Amino acid sequence: MPAEFFSYTSPSLEARPHPAKGGMGLFALQQIAKDELLILWGGKVVMLDKLPENHEKLLQIDEGLYLLTITPEPADYVNHSCDPNAGFLGQVGLVAIRTVHPGEEITMDYAMCDGSPYDEFDCACGAAACRGRVTGDDWRIPELWARYAGYFSPYLQRRINALKANNH
Ligand SMILES: [Zn+2]
Repeated sequence: MPAEFFSYTSPSLEARPHPAKGGMGLFALQQIAKDELLILWGGKVVMLDKLPENHEKLLQIDEGLYLLTITPEPADYVNHSCDPNAGFLGQVGLVAIRTVHPGEEITMDYAMCDGSPYDEFDCACGAAACRGRVTGDDWRIPELWARYAGYFSPYLQRRINALKANNH
């Protein structure tokens, strides 16, 4: 029986082992246009104070709210890059932010969705613009506001708008 998935993953993508990233990766099987839908994540919404121990992957979707993945599935295998080719559409959608070519790995920048320090790590993504360390405060970097304009998770866009308004 095929596994039951809780998320939508575009048929243009395929999950494959990605030893260089220490796990799996999601790769384009064909060319993908800018703004094409790649993933709609599904799962269980949990509040910050009720985070289970030993949880599977989590995605922050609003202030104090996280999406807990129920089972490992292809949509879980989007790795971080400091020079990504995908970004957010709403709280749980992932779209291409530029043309993606066949064979390319789908990546996002956790700065687009992480607003708290629940998943910080030293980054070795290899991008020329690699920040070296990925933290829950990276959404505050003004250079990223311009680069990812329109592709931040909505709750982070609200925070960014408030920061911009306060700087006037
Ligand atoms: Zn990096």
